[in-house]
Amino acid sequence: MAVKFVQPRAPQGTASTKPLGEFCNFIGGELRASKSGEHLDTVDPATGKTYARIPDSGAPDVAEAVAAAKKAFGSWSECSPRDRGSYLLKIAALIEENLEALALAESQDNGKPLSLARQVDIPRAAENFRFFAQHALSFFEEGYIDSAKGVASRIEREPLGVVACISPWNLPLYLFTWKIAPALAAGNTVVGKPSEVTPATAALLGELCIEAGLPPGVLNIIQGLGSTVGAALCEHADVSAISFTGGTATGSRVRATAERLGKRATLELGGKNPSILFEDADYDIALTTAVRSAFSNQGQICLCGSRLFVQRSIYERFKTDFIARVSKLVVGDPLEAATQQGALVSETHLQKVLSYIELSKAEGGNILCGGARLSPSGRCEDGFFVAPTVIEGLSTSCRTSQEEIFGPVVTLQPFDSEEEVIAAANATQYGLAANIWTRDVEKAHRVAHALESGIVWINCWMLRDLRTPFGGVKNSGVGREGGDEALRFFTKAPKTISWPQA
Ligand code: NDP
Repeated sequence: MAVKFVQPRAPQGTASTKPLGEFCNFIGGELRASKSGEHLDTVDPATGKTYARIPDSGAPDVAEAVAAAKKAFGSWSECSPRDRGSYLLKIAALIEENLEALALAESQDNGKPLSLARQVDIPRAAENFRFFAQHALSFFEEGYIDSAKGVASRIEREPLGVVACISPWNLPLYLFTWKIAPALAAGNTVVGKPSEVTPATAALLGELCIEAGLPPGVLNIIQGLGSTVGAALCEHADVSAISFTGGTATGSRVRATAERLGKRATLELGGKNPSILFEDADYDIALTTAVRSAFSNQGQICLCGSRLFVQRSIYERFKTDFIARVSKLVVGDPLEAATQQGALVSETHLQKVLSYIELSKAEGGNILCGGARLSPSGRCEDGFFVAPTVIEGLSTSCRTSQEEIFGPVVTLQPFDSEEEVIAAANATQYGLAANIWTRDVEKAHRVAHALESGIVWINCWMLRDLRTPFGGVKNSGVGREGGDEALRFFTKAPKTISWPQA
């Protein structure tokens, strides 16, 4: 049965004709306001209007959540992996049952097309819980028999305790659950903090956990600002580990705190990902995927290919076809079925992206398409829309080519040789993801090996096996998520117990 979400509801004393929704913290199994009673506004990026408010939580709320998590840790950590997994499977099923409501909430909160939330964000959130419920079983059952030596061994793994999961605004429920699911599956209790910019689906997740009967305190979700809630969570003495995804600058602060306090931390940070098209690529698939990899979610995916390198012999043809495709992308109301590009997440982010477009002009870039804010008619006329933008003529070293824009902006650059493109692709502080297009298998693997990147896709993009390690090198991250890597991060160093085997 679909859950009837408590939110949005009108806060008391609101005189508005269209009542604001109100999201809550989720602490000790209950929906709660902040201790201070203060709120923050939540804006619908497609309309530019405030539609809800969240608790402006602070250190006292964090302390309460950590205390609830600490209290719940004993019994949760003693549950078998199978019993813990059964709760995760219930949550996964509830996410699927409530897919439509969650997709709508995600789209309204983030500005992304409803179709994308429906097809990608929410199904993946359910998959995260289902995957780790099952994957943890084999992880906790690791054992060996060496018949020649006559020894049997089993590997014992224990959870860390209370852990913090801090996530960004671009794929709100998808990335939040990508951390929470392995942390819970490994037997930890969690205090999660979603981005203050996109609080909705995290708040709704709290309600689903109540419906799923998750024991109180096992998962706690605190809404509020990163500088207060996020910082207090990282500082809290009872938080053993921090799993963080966000910008590189914030990640550095989180890392400094973790190092100072001797906490374990994994950091998934920014990217400036190259897409490399060789002349022998399967042209049509490469073209279609290059558009998708540059502009999905308005270019606000850490894995988006924002630097497109095209071999010179096909450069002009590709440029013409690429611009024709990009110019046809339908930008507008995220709730409309035909929309392919929604709004950017916030006014602040919109201004950041526009400022990079201006910078690119100053740096000698030629705007081939897009390059400006858009104002769709009707309810979205004040929304935060930017036309998908393609720029050429920039050097590899200029700021536009070097810094993460995280919007619907891609740079186009020709190259002649394999060596040249590897050097250009590697010439940034980032190293998160890359994609290579060629029919030459040897070349594909040679280039993949040479790229300084945590993830390389050959002739595809965003094709993920959740068992594989996920994370970046250089300033794109520290540590890995995914599969066993995530479960190892969320457990203590293993203990090996051996005995003679007849
Ligand atoms: P931010 O770094 O601004 O924020 C990430 C999270 O950290 C938010 O929940 C934020 O809260 C919180 N936060 C802010 N300050 C602190 C602090 N001092 N201590 C603890 N937590 C804090 O990133 P964005 O939300 O802007 O996300 C975009 C960035 O995330 C991009 O750089 C993108 O590349 C990166 N990203 C990386 C991914 C990867 O896997 N490598 C995946 C997706 C995104 P609040 O928002 O409330 O301030």
